[in-house]
Amino acid sequence: MSESSAAVRPASAAVDPLTAAIEPARAAAVETAGDADAVGEHLGATPETVSAEGAAAHLGEVLTHTFASRLPGYVGWHWAVTIARVPGDERITVDEVVLLPGDQALLAPAWVPWHERLRPGDLSVGDVLPATEDDPRLAPAYTVDDDSADDPEGRIVAGEIGLGRERVLSREGRSEAVARWTAGEFGPTAPMARQAPGPCASCGFYLPLAGSLRQVLGACGNAYAPAEGRVVTADYGCGAHSQATLVVVQDTEVVTSARYDTSEYDVLSD
Ligand code: SF4
Repeated sequence: MSESSAAVRPASAAVDPLTAAIEPARAAAVETAGDADAVGEHLGATPETVSAEGAAAHLGEVLTHTFASRLPGYVGWHWAVTIARVPGDERITVDEVVLLPGDQALLAPAWVPWHERLRPGDLSVGDVLPATEDDPRLAPAYTVDDDSADDPEGRIVAGEIGLGRERVLSREGRSEAVARWTAGEFGPTAPMARQAPGPCASCGFYLPLAGSLRQVLGACGNAYAPAEGRVVTADYGCGAHSQATLVVVQDTEVVTSARYDTSEYDVLSD
């Protein structure tokens, strides 16, 4: 809105011309809304302040009038019309007219990028989830001790001839994985682990991971175990532990019902 078209004069010469300029402000809101019915009752007027060298100071020449919104779909919103006056000049100009949400306004949730919205399990066949350049779970291989191999010199040679990985799990990425798997289904707090005869660390079916995580993580290689083929923590365990021993108890036979015992009778035949 240009200053010339927005220039208005207050309806009455009150002590504070800006505060009194309700109708000119309403007219500006109606002009922006394009419909007089879209602008409701006057809600108030707020002097605008600016910070001058760190101290808040009232300009006294800039003020915002607010009006209720009557626009369909904008319940709880309000029109904010900011007007101003040059000291010593009676003319009032409209700085801006905006529609703002109030405390009760219905707002759309904040937009979240697709790759941040994804949850574990959302990825299906054919989907591609590219890791961003700044993904904190990954770091350039040359900055991190890539623990996929035990021989550091071998890693350097592999990198030089183009066989090494460009990025590897960062320290943060590894910590997150350990925390996730420790708290998961095959971690030490799982009900199965609490009843197990021993931990995976002492089980013959336990295959420790290579690298720095070998002390805490491994894979289960027991086809009969519920964790078969899964990553387990060293302190997880299950009833299929290789060192589990079966104690055979010779129970005494307990007969709870009457039965026909032929040993005390003569069986006669015709
Ligand atoms: S069989 Fe059980 S105890 Fe052994 S590695 Fe697998 S999950 Fe662990």
